Amino acid sequence: MSARASIVPVFVPHWGCPHSCVFCDQRQITGEREPATAHTVEHAIQQAAALPRGAKRQLAFYGGSFTAIPVQRQEELLTAAQPYRRSGEIDSIRLSTRPDAIDAAVLARLRRYGVETIELGAQSMDDRVLALAGRGHTASAVEHAARLVKESGFELVLQMMTGLPGSTDESDIETARRLIALRPDGVRIYPTVIVADTALCELWRAGRYREHTVEDAVRVCARILPLFEEAGIPVIRLGLNPTDELSGGAVVGGAYHPALGELVRSRIFRSRAEALLADAEPGSRVILGVNARELSQMIGQNRGNLDWLRERFSLASLSVRPADVKSGEIRRIFLEK
Ligand code: SF4
Repeated sequence: MSARASIVPVFVPHWGCPHSCVFCDQRQITGEREPATAHTVEHAIQQAAALPRGAKRQLAFYGGSFTAIPVQRQEELLTAAQPYRRSGEIDSIRLSTRPDAIDAAVLARLRRYGVETIELGAQSMDDRVLALAGRGHTASAVEHAARLVKESGFELVLQMMTGLPGSTDESDIETARRLIALRPDGVRIYPTVIVADTALCELWRAGRYREHTVEDAVRVCARILPLFEEAGIPVIRLGLNPTDELSGGAVVGGAYHPALGELVRSRIFRSRAEALLADAEPGSRVILGVNARELSQMIGQNRGNLDWLRERFSLASLSVRPADVKSGEIRRIFLEK
């Protein structure tokens, strides 16, 4: 997929979305409050044109549910991009939308305007979780839309969330498995964040929703990420992009961390090392070898992985060195008592 394209983002906030997902305040999540117009599109492309030209440029409509906004508005935004497509200033267009806002006529329109990539917010493949989240669609709607998108020749990206009301680690992992079965070209994983003034925030304050903490997200995502990677499906984002508005107080709880992906990758290393050290006797001195590029992931933030493993196995010492191993692999170089 064109994951290496540089993105020219245009946010289409909540605008036109007839739903009220419990976690959503799109205006805050995207850091935007005004509806996007043709001018927004032109301005975003012109600003990007001033930057050095490297990879291909992709205009991306993010935020709300693009194909659920009035057709006239969709066409206004897509039409504004056409002169730049013709001149080669942008190479392609992507957008995100809801599974139940996709049908053959919608896809034909997007094709006419040169859209190449469609992101569907699946969020969960558990109908009970979808209902509790107020999504207003079922898992079978996700499957139907995903197939239509792929059969029509678009690139398909699926988005899922962890830690929604009513979900468990197991149901989130099952969601990942069902998304893998749809063979998307990429996925985004968004652990649930509690944003102020949302229905989820009220549920949480009323004690009717247990917060999905950063630790909860790291634990479950460290099981989910390898499933996608083993299936050859790129995870193009893990965790919300930090915005000034989110960092400035809009987030009141949940799994919000600016380096969530790093924490998850580091936890995967910790789990693999834990399995590798299963037979280490208390008092052992251990050296682990990892690919040089992954030293910091093995060590963990503030040496957290090493401290945790040393304590877990009562080791006398534990250190890490660069080794000639493949990405993701760990070699036990030395183990003695
Ligand atoms: S469908 Fe998307 S934009 Fe609409 S309420 Fe849900 S998350 Fe927000």
